[in-house]
Amino acid sequence: MPQKTRTKILATIGPSSSSREQLSKLIDAGADAFRFNFSHGTHAEHKERYEIVRKLAKEKNVHITIVADLQGPKLRVGEFKDGKVLLKEGARFVLDMEKSLGDEKRVTLPHKEIFQALKPGDDLLLNDGNIVLHVDDCDAHHADTTVVVGGYLSSHKGVNLPNIKLPISAITEKDEDDLKFALKLGVDWISLSFVQTADDVRQARKLIGDKAWIVSKLEKPSAIDQLEEIIQLSDAIMVARGDLGVECPIQTVPVLQKRIVSACRKFARPVIIATQMLESMINAPTPTRAEVSDVATAVYDGADTVMLSAETAAGKYPVEAVQMMNNIIMQVEADPLFYNLMQSSRKQQHCCSGEADAITYAASDVACSLDKVAAIVTYTSSGLTTFLTARERPNLPILAITPSIDVARKMGIVWGAKSFINKDSFKSFDKVEDIAVKIAVENGFAKPGEHIIITAGFPLGKKGRTNMLHTVYIPEI
Ligand code: PGA
Ligand code: MN
Repeated sequence: MPQKTRTKILATIGPSSSSREQLSKLIDAGADAFRFNFSHGTHAEHKERYEIVRKLAKEKNVHITIVADLQGPKLRVGEFKDGKVLLKEGARFVLDMEKSLGDEKRVTLPHKEIFQALKPGDDLLLNDGNIVLHVDDCDAHHADTTVVVGGYLSSHKGVNLPNIKLPISAITEKDEDDLKFALKLGVDWISLSFVQTADDVRQARKLIGDKAWIVSKLEKPSAIDQLEEIIQLSDAIMVARGDLGVECPIQTVPVLQKRIVSACRKFARPVIIATQMLESMINAPTPTRAEVSDVATAVYDGADTVMLSAETAAGKYPVEAVQMMNNIIMQVEADPLFYNLMQSSRKQQHCCSGEADAITYAASDVACSLDKVAAIVTYTSSGLTTFLTARERPNLPILAITPSIDVARKMGIVWGAKSFINKDSFKSFDKVEDIAVKIAVENGFAKPGEHIIITAGFPLGKKGRTNMLHTVYIPEI
């Protein structure tokens, strides 16, 4: 079956969606990829879910992408004696490294790096930014603060320090442990939370090697300062609007979203828009108009993938949320304005630098000027050619033919890409044309009387060499 949408759907798995039955329904509703959130759940739970997803994909004859999301250095307060306290505006409150349970006067903040970096005058945001503490005085072990915005604070709530670059790496001890486990399972992508600098991505790459590809989650202002370098070092990017909207003024999030999407297109990196996309569907069967508009805007912006978080992980309507997202995407992709926008933003976002860029750019132009083109077929060993073709956002299916199951499975977060595994076509050049036509026709992407466009590299199978552009007419019988 040809795919329903070009923009992909990444659904987070959790208690609402971990059964075989639910996962099967999510795939049928349009989920292309699943996020395993290592902030929650045990290794045993993740393993069970992993095996179900791989089995279902095999049965349904589809490639489903799995993203393991590492928690990263998420900072949290310790525990309160009574579970929670009410912090009143103007009150004094102390954060320290003591082990005892917290109360109205103090709580543990078990991160020495924070106290090393804090200065009087800094603000701390707690509980997704709902509580604000102003630092009056501090040393290496404690901070005296005044409550600027009060409210209830319960045990283990998150702490954000906007504009403070902490001397901690993006990979904690827990992450290293989770990473080893996820790589052993065989996940396709690893996402890194709270990336602060380009060096964080370099460090992760050293640990991960070529065992998985890296999604850098942009949720810190310091990462935005090194945006282009981080994008180039990563394999994909997530606009992690949840923490980004706490760390940066919330009204800057839509502006940053557009800037990040455009920069990712420039460097041909897939980009995921995440968090609160259909938030009200956690508890209701239909979303708000504003949420529908938000998903549509992300698609019009040119996102590769839109993500569901608690909607599918812990909500009451996980399947309906995926269906709704799929319906919104279909509606936008049926709008001629969508492709006009993608085409008009094409050249300005393009940086043509090598053979592969030039060939994929030209393939997209040929698709516009030649009559009856049904699909662009990319032969790819590394996946790069498919990324580059997707960057052009052609109004055509993009088929990725690859000898590698690992590459095929990674395409679930790449705009328009539909993967097929074929080893024969990489053995001899004569077969390239026949196999491309066969795959396109048999899977309903092309029919007699139409053209397909093929891009490939010569010699075949050598990574990073896309130097051939070929058109094929499929004769009518
Ligand atoms: P999270 O990341 O859900 O893991 O926090 C996404 C975000 O912050 O938006
Ligand atoms: Mn986050």
